[in-house]
Amino acid sequence: MNKIEHIGIAVKNLAASNDLFARLLGTAAYKTEIVESEGVTTSFFKTGENKIELLEATREDSPVAKFIAKRGEGIHHIAFEVDDIHAEMRRLQAEGFTLLNAEPKRGADNKLVCFVHPKDANGVLVELCQEIEA
Ligand code: ZN
Repeated sequence: MNKIEHIGIAVKNLAASNDLFARLLGTAAYKTEIVESEGVTTSFFKTGENKIELLEATREDSPVAKFIAKRGEGIHHIAFEVDDIHAEMRRLQAEGFTLLNAEPKRGADNKLVCFVHPKDANGVLVELCQEIEA
């Protein structure tokens, strides 16, 4: 894994949180995107090298809606940038980690993504992401 690509934060109201994080970070979100497969609307902020992703559920059965119902708003996942997501998925499986999706799927911000079950990582949901080449 190369570096932390972004930190995902679950929020109840994206519009309000976009405003809050713009004031907190001193910069506005640079993109907002609906990821239908995950049932979320996301927005991204950049501060220096770092990115923050805010996630609001678009439906009741969205994983983010369930997360907020159980644990409240807050840090939802940590995403790591990888060069070869398939190789990294094979490596993690060989190490005994449970992957939440068998194949990489298209995530927000032009990425292929795969999630690692939080039960295998001290309660932390880990996302692998690889930039999709144009
Ligand atoms: Zn993410």
